[in-house]
Amino acid sequence: MNDFAPSKGMTETDISATIAAVLAEATLEEKVAMMSGAGFFKAYLEDGKVWAARPYRAGGGIERLGIEPFYFTDGPRGVARGQSTCFPCTMARGATFDVDLERRIGEVMGIEARAQGCTLSGAVCINLLRHPAWGRAQETYGEDPHHLGEMGAALAAGIQTHNVAATVKHFALNSMENARFKVDVQIDERALHEVYLQHFKRVLDAGCATVMSAYNKMNGEYCGQNWELLTGILRDEWGFDGFVHSDWVKGVYDVSGAAAGLDVENPEPIVFGKALLAAVESCAVEAEIIDRTCERILRVHFRFACAADPLPGYGLELVASPAHIAVALEAADKSAVLLKNDGLLPLANAGTLAVLGKLAALENTGDNGSSKVRPPCVVTPLEGLKRAFNGTIVTGDEDDLAAAASAAREADMVVVVVGNTSEDEGEFIPGDIALGEDVPAELRGQARAKSIGGDRDNLGLRADQIALIEAAAQSGKPVVVVIQSGSAIMVEEWHDKAGAILQTFYSGMEGGTALTRLLFGEVSPSGKLPFTVARSADDYPYFDKDADSIVYDLWHGYSLFDRDGKKPRYAFGHGLSYASFDYSDLKARVEGERITVTVSVRNTGARAADEVVQVYVSCPGVACERQKKLLKGFRRVSIEPGSVVTVEIAIPFENLKWRDAETHIWVLEEGEYGIHAGASSDRLVSTSVSL
Ligand code: BGC
Repeated sequence: MNDFAPSKGMTETDISATIAAVLAEATLEEKVAMMSGAGFFKAYLEDGKVWAARPYRAGGGIERLGIEPFYFTDGPRGVARGQSTCFPCTMARGATFDVDLERRIGEVMGIEARAQGCTLSGAVCINLLRHPAWGRAQETYGEDPHHLGEMGAALAAGIQTHNVAATVKHFALNSMENARFKVDVQIDERALHEVYLQHFKRVLDAGCATVMSAYNKMNGEYCGQNWELLTGILRDEWGFDGFVHSDWVKGVYDVSGAAAGLDVENPEPIVFGKALLAAVESCAVEAEIIDRTCERILRVHFRFACAADPLPGYGLELVASPAHIAVALEAADKSAVLLKNDGLLPLANAGTLAVLGKLAALENTGDNGSSKVRPPCVVTPLEGLKRAFNGTIVTGDEDDLAAAASAAREADMVVVVVGNTSEDEGEFIPGDIALGEDVPAELRGQARAKSIGGDRDNLGLRADQIALIEAAAQSGKPVVVVIQSGSAIMVEEWHDKAGAILQTFYSGMEGGTALTRLLFGEVSPSGKLPFTVARSADDYPYFDKDADSIVYDLWHGYSLFDRDGKKPRYAFGHGLSYASFDYSDLKARVEGERITVTVSVRNTGARAADEVVQVYVSCPGVACERQKKLLKGFRRVSIEPGSVVTVEIAIPFENLKWRDAETHIWVLEEGEYGIHAGASSDRLVSTSVSL
């Protein structure tokens, strides 16, 4: 019976009438069934325990009435299905500060999801990087809320262009991995709204249709059944009208989650399902809640199912097409951050090049958790260099330091590739998965050889990698260190041994191609750090990967360093170029309800390059203590040598307010606002404006 099926071009009035008719026609059982995913465990077993081998049924759907369920796919670095385009990880893309590129990446993900039968995407992860040890840091964009919101909004908009609903995750405060199922994050109203939630609001205001709740607790209650988060803030305060679904298994513990605002339990009806049906029948949960929830789910379904598609078709030939792979290459080009360069880069494309380190030959695209993408091919650093280098390449690695040192001596220059892999960081895959009684017997307590991923214990490089850098440096040849990782790597023990340091993160399927373009100067590095690299681990906030409870406050990242007067090794926003840029004529004026900032940027170098212009604001801080400065705008621009570009950035007053916990109101302070613009958070020109 297809009388209720959505069709392209239905008007809002038709949609509302059809949704009302579906709710009148559907049985209570059918409605409750819409509130859970289904078939996940069976599919997982049938697929040989391969995560994401097929789209997950993730809520919605009454086939009897012609209503399709949502089919979910991860994830942040590409569609986690089939052989999709593998982008640089989200943190790398954070370093591009390129919202236009991020929207185009979202479009590719939307197309590839559609082509593989998925209508709900879990790509938009915007949890704030509070501490670089967080194992899943690679899945988010960085430490700054404004930047997280802009990048996440762009990705969600791109995905939804192709009528795939985007889900923003994990709501909220999920910035630790190993303890994610149990940790209780204690937080006050100011820190919650100003630091940890504003980027979620930004993404939802931009139209992102769904939210995935987090596993952890906030102030004593699990996020998946936390009324304050899911109803008080999300619906009542922000006016969100999409639906909320849980994270996978153990995302909700009680049927009361439905009344708290959780619409869908994923991936199976473990807590909802029969228990929720019984709760409605016994009036422990009001039937009205079920109808309201189903209406939200149906609204999202009809919104996308009835909208016109930009493409005539979504065939499998679009997956990992040359055009899509070109976008992955562009992202890898733009995301590498040149941390240090003693004039060594770009390298000459001739002579003998030693390429050292096991990671040089590894397809190292990120962790092995839910965000894993299986692209048709990956260009490793060594492969990329072999394809592009006109001279001779010699190799070596940390397993044989003497051989590596001799390769370095033989060469004219050395590239050492170091960093992390899925063994060191990522979604935590325990050696003894204990999913408990909720899952089929075959899946309980499955043993692996060892646990992998998780939060990092070491914020620097492994000792054998440091030894390799030292061995390379002893050769007296110029040494370039390439760092692969999901967040900050502290460099104190060895940075003076390297003539240049380039952080490429996990740079996706075209990472090796981009690396050669960057090293030999075809492309100028233009990425900027989306986090702070400390000189001492003690300069970061408190972190305990096994914590049962932890306090999150206003202070982390560059605002903590600013408050404590600590000098980082590499500041937030830092990143060098083969060009150089001069900032001048900074002006700020009040126009209506916003500050308009203009600044002129001259390329004083000899080659065209991109620059990321950053604008920070210091609020008066009279009514309450404020961060010394906060990023409030940024723009990536391409500038020809000798040319000047004037960049204008508007900062709405709304984005300058602080949250008064007494009144629950956002307050704009009167007084003088410092306006700072520049190439990084520690290289700024300043002016001020009074409000
Ligand atoms: C992760 C989510 C992911 C989900 C589905 C969970 O373990 O936390 O980020 O979307 O699995 O794969």
